[in-house]
Order: sequence, then C-alpha cells, then structure tokens
Amino acid sequence: MSTSSKTSFLENVNLSFDRAAKALDLPDGLCQQIRTCNAICEVKFGVKLRGRYEVFTGWRATHSEHVLPVKGGIRYATFADQQEVEALAALMTYKCAIVNVPYGGSKGALKIDPRKYNEEELERITRRFTQELDKRGFIGPGLNVPAPDMGTGQQMMSWIADEYQKLHPNDINARGCVTGKPVNFGGIQGRTEATGRGVQFGLQEFFRHPEDVRKAGLEGSLEGKSIVMQGLGNVGYHAAKFLQEEDGAKITAILERDGAIVNDNGLDVETVAAHLLETGGVKDFPGAEYFEDGATLLEKECDILIPAAMEGVIHQDNAERIRTRIIAEAANGPVTFEADNILRERGVAIIPDAYLNAGGVTVSYFEWLKNLSHVRFGRLDRRYEEAQGKAILDVLEEALGKPVSGPARDSLMVGPSELTLVRSGLDDTMREAYREIRELLLSNDKIKDLRTAAFGLAIQKIADIYKSMHL
Ligand code: NAD
Repeated sequence: MSTSSKTSFLENVNLSFDRAAKALDLPDGLCQQIRTCNAICEVKFGVKLRGRYEVFTGWRATHSEHVLPVKGGIRYATFADQQEVEALAALMTYKCAIVNVPYGGSKGALKIDPRKYNEEELERITRRFTQELDKRGFIGPGLNVPAPDMGTGQQMMSWIADEYQKLHPNDINARGCVTGKPVNFGGIQGRTEATGRGVQFGLQEFFRHPEDVRKAGLEGSLEGKSIVMQGLGNVGYHAAKFLQEEDGAKITAILERDGAIVNDNGLDVETVAAHLLETGGVKDFPGAEYFEDGATLLEKECDILIPAAMEGVIHQDNAERIRTRIIAEAANGPVTFEADNILRERGVAIIPDAYLNAGGVTVSYFEWLKNLSHVRFGRLDRRYEEAQGKAILDVLEEALGKPVSGPARDSLMVGPSELTLVRSGLDDTMREAYREIRELLLSNDKIKDLRTAAFGLAIQKIADIYKSMHL
C-alpha cells in the first residue's frame, strides 16, 4: 500500500534483489529461480454471520521451497492484495536466509477489517480460512507454518492450531503448524516481544561498530539518541519500550493513525501505550504537542527514525525532507526503492527490514523447535546449571574467604529459564547476521549499502543450497 511510489511494493523488493544480484557472480538463470514466487493460492469462502452469508478473500503465497517448511505471517487488513502477499513472501525468504533460520518464505492475508467483527465471528472466519489453506496444502508443520502479522495475534494463532489439530488428529506435531501461539497452547516465552526485541538487538549491534555509526554521522552509543517512532503496535511498542528503558534512548515523537505527538524531552512509552489503549489514539496525550497530520512528523529531525507501521511511508515525495541519520526498518517495506536511492545518496544509513525485523521469525523458529521436540527449553538443564553455578560460587567464596554478593552471585545461582534462552538465542542471531552482512559489504566493492549487502547475503546462501541440490 505504497503512498506515493512509481513502483509497487513487489517491484521495490525485486529491484532491491536485482541490485544485489548484479553484485554477485552467479550462474545464468539461478537468480531468476530464486526471485520467482513458486506458488500462490487465492481462496474465497462464505461464512454465515449475523443471519447472512459474507464472502471473504484470502491469499497464501509460497515464495521459495529451497528448504521446507516455508514460513511467514498472516495479516488481516482491508488493503491486502495478492501482490502485497507475494512481496512479503519474497521478503520472508531473504529474511530467513539472512538470519540463518532454515525456512523458505511464505505470507498470507485475508482482506478484512478485524475491528468490525466480534471475537466469536473472528474465530469462525479464522477456522474457515484454516480449512481452506489445509485443503490446498498451504499449512502444516513440515510444509507451511503461518504466524501473526498486522491485525492478527496469539488468539487467532491458537484457533488455527486447534482447527489444524482437529483436521489431523494423528499428527503428533500438529501444534507446530503455526507459531505465535499463547504459551499455554504450545507457544514460547518471549514470542510477543520478539520482533521489537530484535529491532533493539539489531540497533545495539549497529552501535557496536563505531565506523558504521560515524559513517551515519553519529557518535557513541544508543544512550540519549533521539528516536521518532511510527506505529505503536506490537513491533513499535516493544522496540520503543526496550530502547527507552534499557538503552536510554529518547522517544521524541510517536506517530499513530490519528496523528502524532511530540516532546523533545522524551515521551514515556508505557504511558503513551496506555493512553492509546484507552482512547484508541494519541490525541489529547498530556504533556505533548499534537499534530493531526502525523505523517509529516516523519520529517522531524532525529538521530533514528523507526517506521514500525506499514509499507511505503517513505517515498520519492518525502525522502528529500527526511532529517534523520539512521532509518531502522522495523516495518516491512517502509522505504520505497526510489526513496532508498535518494536517501543513500544523502548518506542516511538504512538498517533494512529483511534483517532488522527478523526477530519474530527467529523466535517463531524456536517455538517450532519446541513444538517438534515436545519439551520446554531449559527443562533438562536448568537445575543442573544452577548446581554448577553453586559449585563455582562455593569454590570462589572459599578462595576469597568472604561471601560473593550482588549481580555476580545472582547470575551464578540462577539456571537459564526459557525466556532467558530465547533472548540469548535472538541476541546471538541478530549479532551474527549483522556481522555477516557487514563482512559482505566490506569485501565486495560493488556493494555500497546495508540493504544490498543483506539481499546479497541471502541470495548467496540460497544459491549455495540450489547448487548443492544440482538443480
Ligand atoms: P500492529 O497492527 O500490531 O501495529 C501497527 C501499528 O501501526 C498500530 O498501532 C496502528 O495503529 C499503527 N498504524 C497503522 N497505520 C498507521 C499510519 N498510517 N500511521 C501511523 N501509525 C499507523 O502490527 P505489527 O505486528 O506491529 O506490524 C507492524 C509492521 O511490522 C508491519 O509492517 C509488519 O509487517 C511488520 N512486522 C511485524 C512482525 C510481527 O512479529 N508482528 C514481524 C516482522 C515484521
């Protein structure tokens, strides 16, 4: 749903792909094979609601099956269409390759405004959508595994899992047919926060490289950096909260559907989120200036701009006026290809979506592994590690002749919980992926920016798999 772009979202993704492919030396036709969307199904189904039949349209695209299952969210939105689903599925393929998650890319959508339906109606619609996907082989723990995206969440994922389980009662791994489920229904600790947490870890890693920070025209750490945030939904809320509370960044503007609020001394994310929940918008938030035309605040001067709402918001018409040093793409496709070119010329560092918002799929991967292994992470080794920590502490205290106290004692005395392990696995994933992207950027002189390097990395990894298969 690009606001002002000559090219569609799908074309934007393909143009970024082509730019990266040109910098690599790959056999003829292989890039075309990687770029092509393998399969897409459109379903139309009627559900009897409020005494009449209503027909819904949905899609599920399988972009690449170089590894199985394929993975990607399902979004519920009125503006959803087939091209957008294909673009998002392609991004999923590249994203999974970048962060070394062994999945092909997929994506799904239902053209619906979820706010117009009550819970019971949404459940019936979602269960019916699941049946349609199942009939056509577009869902299954070894085949195609959806997750939440815009307009969907935990509740819907548990309806999908339950429906799939009913359709496949003998499949012991049935719950692994979808991720982002509630923890009491096969989900994993830390999944809800995962994408926002990944944005935080990705930014932390960027700031661990002083040359990259200097190239963007900044210095130092995240502490005190001013951030403009668009979208305070699942991704935006968690990213803003962690960056403020744990890294000391300052959220100077929050842009939402109904406008934007600004306070150069910093907005308290928790209080704004509570106001948003209560009133449905940011208007009338005390202690901040309100602007009705929220999108113009994308142009507010800041150190880091984080679009976390939707695609196409930074385009050829506003790219020249964007006054930030870093764009951290928490949303999928927020910067169009034309805008990307303008911003690159201007030296703005763009940390690309295909890397930065991969936290969701990474933790979804952990959830899927948990479903297949039928055991909670940490269940076998938590107490064992606690006992080892205690033994080390005893030796230390004996050698020192005094008790050890404070955080050192706490960390030695506590074995890892599922949440600790999930966060640690996600942090490691985001650090490693950034380092791999950076290595390619520094070693290939045809590659000039992080997005091209990220796409190049994905293409190279997928090409290697195809070459191994001798296809
Ligand atoms: P969400 O529905 O929870 O939140 C989106 C937020 O953006 C809402 O608060 C909404 O009011 C706001 N918004 C919508 N239109 C806006 C506009 N024009 N201006 C300002 N604010 C607007 O969705 P989400 O899950 O947080 O996803 C946000 C983006 O992140 C999407 O691009 C999605 O594809 C991407 N993403 C999400 C995940 C995930 O795990 N949820 C993972 C990867 C990428």
